[in-house]
Amino acid sequence: MIRDLQAAAWGKFAALRARLPHALLLQGAQGVGKLQLAERFAQLLLCESATQASAPCDACAACRWFLGGNHPDVRYVEPEALARFPAPSDEDQAAPAKTTKPSTEIRIEQVRALADFVNIGSHRGGRRIAIVHPAEDMNAASANSLLKSLEEPPAGAVFLLVSHRPARLLPTVRSRCVAVPVPPPEPKAASAWLAAQGVNDPARWLAFAGGAPRRALELATGERLGAILTLLRALEAGDYEAAAAIPDRASLELLAEVLQKLALDRAFGALAGGRRFLPELKPPAGGQPAEWLAFARAMGRSRLLARHPLNPRLFAAEMLAGIPGTLPR
Ligand SMILES: [Zn+2]
Repeated sequence: MIRDLQAAAWGKFAALRARLPHALLLQGAQGVGKLQLAERFAQLLLCESATQASAPCDACAACRWFLGGNHPDVRYVEPEALARFPAPSDEDQAAPAKTTKPSTEIRIEQVRALADFVNIGSHRGGRRIAIVHPAEDMNAASANSLLKSLEEPPAGAVFLLVSHRPARLLPTVRSRCVAVPVPPPEPKAASAWLAAQGVNDPARWLAFAGGAPRRALELATGERLGAILTLLRALEAGDYEAAAAIPDRASLELLAEVLQKLALDRAFGALAGGRRFLPELKPPAGGQPAEWLAFARAMGRSRLLARHPLNPRLFAAEMLAGIPGTLPR
């Protein structure tokens, strides 16, 4: 359960409930459980059980609707590519034009629809809650549109923004929210939680995920597991040709991530003696710590670029060619 994993962060929410701000910004690394905390908090705010408990009852009508993804006073604002609970389309609203690919941005139409949603009365007479996730996926127009709602929040509306890259949000949006940092949970609790989810080698995946248990679970049990293992084997063997033979764009982002972590281990392992992310992977020899650090930064940028259309094979080859101390430059 997320509240066991994130007991300290959950405690902060319980304290906030007494004087609830109209907008919260949950920020922290990817996969630490921010979204699940936001959802649990939203459920708590909507729970219609009479007790003033610090957790939702999971039994009342509101809780059941929430858990079923169809509470009428909750709206998710997510990129189409992520959306699990698509917004119900109103009759007077034209259906969005079918595009070939779902958008990876939060579009202004979604934020405008959200403004309509928070401005109408609540269905249940309680609060209306908007969960904006990941908030950094708002483009400039969307963010400016949301800002209007944040500046003049309708009574009863609560905005929960979830972000692992808060620096990419408009400063004016950030300043309208109360920031709630969500740190990674205790490693022991996170490992136990992963083991309970059936993960075989929790410590390894927790290290790879930088201590973020949701991300570790996704890596260890997700559809990309095979690709990750193949990639790690290729890098360990120094077979960069095999590493560059990535099947799709999603693997490209993964390659950038693995190379970034390898480089950080290589840069800081030399100083601190110890590898943080990939302790089991023997890193390539050669290269100075400063070169590895520069390479890690370059891979951080590549992770962002890897989401956009380009030639995946060429991009992969370019990344691998930048590994310090291995290929002629
Ligand atoms: Zn309830």
